[in-house]
Amino acid sequence: MMSDFDCEVLIVGAGPAGMAAALAAAENGGQIRVIDDNPHPGGQIWRDGPQVVLPEAARRYRQAMAARENIVLHSGCKLVAQCGANRLAYEDAEGCGVIRYQKLILCNGARELLLPFPGWTLPGVSGAGGLQAQIKQGLAIRGERVVIAGSGPLLLAVAKSVKQAGGEVVLVAEQAALRRLAAFAGGLWRWPSKLRQSFCLIQTHYRADSRVLAALGQERLTSVRVGNGGRESTVACDRLACGFGLVANIELAML
Ligand SMILES: Cc1cc2nc3c(=O)[nH]c(=O)nc-3n(C[C@H](O)[C@H](O)[C@H](O)COP(=O)(O)OP(=O)(O)OC[C@H]3O[C@@H](n4cnc5c(N)ncnc54)[C@H](O)[C@@H]3O)c2cc1C
Repeated sequence: MMSDFDCEVLIVGAGPAGMAAALAAAENGGQIRVIDDNPHPGGQIWRDGPQVVLPEAARRYRQAMAARENIVLHSGCKLVAQCGANRLAYEDAEGCGVIRYQKLILCNGARELLLPFPGWTLPGVSGAGGLQAQIKQGLAIRGERVVIAGSGPLLLAVAKSVKQAGGEVVLVAEQAALRRLAAFAGGLWRWPSKLRQSFCLIQTHYRADSRVLAALGQERLTSVRVGNGGRESTVACDRLACGFGLVANIELAML
C-alpha cells in the first residue's frame, strides 16, 4: 500500500538527538514528523526491549513527544531514497510512499566500526554494540563467558549490559595503551557523571594495550587468542564482542 505524507519539518532518527530536535522544532507550532526504523523511539543508547529499564531522561523525552499534538512519530519506518527536491521515499511494514517536507533534520546517529581478524565470521563473534542491542532485545546469555574487545568507552557500557544479563565478562581487551587511556580519563573531570560511571564500569578483567589476534573454534567460537604487549594468551569463551569506535551514518546526507 502507498501512503504519502506532508510535513513542515521531517526529522530522521528518534534517538536522543532526534527527540530533542523534535521537541525544539515543535515549539514553533509547525507539523513535525519523526521517522525511525526501530519499533520504539530511543535510538541506540535508549533502545527499548524486554530486558530494558529505560532511564528517567528517556521516559521524559518520550512522554514530552507524545504530549505534543504537532509531532507525529512514525516508528518502524526507513527512509530509502530521494525522489525529487524535498521528497524522500520511505518503506514500512504497511508498504511505502513519499514524504514531502520543507525542512529536513538528520539525526540518524552512528554505527560501530568492525575490523576483521582471522575467525571473525565464526558464530559467537559479533559487534560489541550489536551484542548489547541483542541483550536489550532479550538474548539470553546467563552463564556465558564473554570477551569484549576493541577500543573506546562503549566496551565498558557493553560489559555492564553483559553482567546485568547474567553473563560473565572474562576479559575486556582495550587496544589503546595505558598512557592514552590515562590522558582520556584525565579529561573526564569536565563531565563528573561520566567520570563516576567510568569508575563503576572499570572491570578487574580490563586490559589495556590488548588486541584480538584470532577467534578460534570449529563450528562456533570456543576461545580467543589475544596479544598483550609482546605476549600472547588464549582465553576460553562463548562469545566475543568487538567494537573499534563509531562511524557516523552519513549515507542519507549523501543522497
Ligand atoms: C550499537 C551501538 C550501541 C551504543 N550503545 C551506547 C551506550 O550504551 N551508551 C552510550 O553512551 N552510547 C552508546 N552508543 C553511542 C550512541 O551513538 C550515542 O550515545 C547516542 O545513541 C547517539 O544519539 P543520536 O540520537 O545521535 O543517534 P542514535 O541513538 O543512533 O539514533 C539514531 C536513530 O536513527 C535511526 N535511523 C538511522 N538511519 C535511518 C533511516 N535511513 N531511516 C530511519 N531511521 C534511521 C536509527 O535506527 C536510530 O534509531 C552506541 C552506539 C551504537 C552504534
